[in-house]
Amino acid sequence: DRKIITRALLSVSDKSGLIGFASALAQRGIALISTGGTHKALVEAGLAAKDVAEVTQFPEMMDGRVKTLHPAIHGGILAVRGNPEHQAAMLAHGISTIDLVVVNLYPFEETVARGGSFDDCIENIDIGGPAMIRAAAKNHADVAVIVDPADYEALLAELAANGGATTLPLRRRLAQKAYARTAAYDAAVSNWFAGIEGIGTPDFRAIGGRRALDLRYGENPHQQAAFYATPEQRPGVSTARQLQGKQLSFNNINDTDAAYEAVAEFDPQRTAAVVIVKHANPCGVAEGDSLAEAYEKALRCDSVSAFGGVVALNRTLDAEAAQRIVSIFTEVIIAPDATEEAIAIVAGKKNLRLLLAGGLPDPRGGGLAVRTVAGGFLAQTRDNAVVDDMDLRVVTRRVPTEAELADLRFAFRVAKHVKSNAIVYARDGATVGIGAGQMSRVDSSRIAAWKAQEAATAAGATESFAKGSVVASDAFFPFADGLLAAAEAGATAVIQPGGSIRDDEVIRAADDAGLAMVFTGHRHFRH
Ligand code: 5GP
Repeated sequence: DRKIITRALLSVSDKSGLIGFASALAQRGIALISTGGTHKALVEAGLAAKDVAEVTQFPEMMDGRVKTLHPAIHGGILAVRGNPEHQAAMLAHGISTIDLVVVNLYPFEETVARGGSFDDCIENIDIGGPAMIRAAAKNHADVAVIVDPADYEALLAELAANGGATTLPLRRRLAQKAYARTAAYDAAVSNWFAGIEGIGTPDFRAIGGRRALDLRYGENPHQQAAFYATPEQRPGVSTARQLQGKQLSFNNINDTDAAYEAVAEFDPQRTAAVVIVKHANPCGVAEGDSLAEAYEKALRCDSVSAFGGVVALNRTLDAEAAQRIVSIFTEVIIAPDATEEAIAIVAGKKNLRLLLAGGLPDPRGGGLAVRTVAGGFLAQTRDNAVVDDMDLRVVTRRVPTEAELADLRFAFRVAKHVKSNAIVYARDGATVGIGAGQMSRVDSSRIAAWKAQEAATAAGATESFAKGSVVASDAFFPFADGLLAAAEAGATAVIQPGGSIRDDEVIRAADDAGLAMVFTGHRHFRH
């Protein structure tokens, strides 16, 4: 599977590293052919290179739209070396083989990014480049293809180690990268059209995920994984600067995203807020006058689960909050920013990852959420419904007090970010018991009530933290039982979407128990 390189075609827009690489190829006796600009650069550096026009016997034409689109080039790339008919065709038409294709494309993405005009963007759609890349990758059994200057060194190292030949594993790896590049390139063009034509959200097929980070493994060590960034610029784990700590793992990224999306629900102008996440579910959420206060309140909800969790903050991390967070084992901290003092405090914990996202995402913002299913994927717009925008309807005889109403809003905001079935007890701007991910809503209610009792016991309190709390449910109570479990635990007010065929029964049960209840008309399933 070793293939000696005798002739290489170089056609690159990004000419970085070109001369050093081409010189090394020339020193190995490899013949070079190249397109106009690349040819000029090679000749100016004193290298012997043949112009593609000489090979095709056609000049570059139409502003460079047609340079390499010719059988003398594509036949030389695509010919199967061991195939007699292909050999005969080459001979009959005077075509010579090309064993290495080095192409990087017209800078379409950069042209769009710098706000280039429509015509400018159109002219920067490369046609011949992708054709050569795809041809070379298809014929990787015989041909090596390089689309990124970062791979020059690996190729030279391979030639040095194999007497001027490439091996099949390298050619396959390069072919895989080549198709990833042309796919991403076309996705960028499609997305640009979507924006220009005002079609709206880009088609998911053209989201153009870019492999941003190779991960050591996936959710489990036997799974492979990578982090793909889409063009969506939403402040969070994809935009964050990591100041310190080990590389993020698959689970870290997933948990950090969940935590940051949840904390972004809290307007930093109104309140400081902290979310602690474990296994993608919040185990403590709180608001406060300061981040330190909010952190203490969030931690009190479930200090056992918070061990090894992810902490997200909605304001600039300050020294006081940093001091408290580092006092227990934490995997990741994410905040919009951090003070110098806070950064210095976190630096004392070498392994703790500190991420600064540069801003908070808009909870009302659009975008797509995706999940795979066998043979495809589901895509939906983000759940960007916010309780502040909802028409809250009081359905019980008793109207919630101001304090209850504030906690009801808080609890519903949190419930949106808890896996269904979600039941959230809250009091004084802090969660006191969270029931997540159960198949039955009553079970989630029971778990939440039990957690509230546990938290109280841990704090040395005599009565459950659920006493005098409010409770939120992400979807309607189908029966009165879940609601009654909450009342029994000590909740005084309830917030839920409503809409069950048994709403009347549930409202009556609430009235009988002396509860105040509001309907939001919005469900927050999160599976
Ligand atoms: P150069 O700077 O060498 O003149 O041009 C290099 C660029 O031309 C590369 O980005 C390559 O992908 C692109 N290219 C090569 N052949 C063709 C072609 O036939 N048509 C178009 N539109 N671009 C080409």
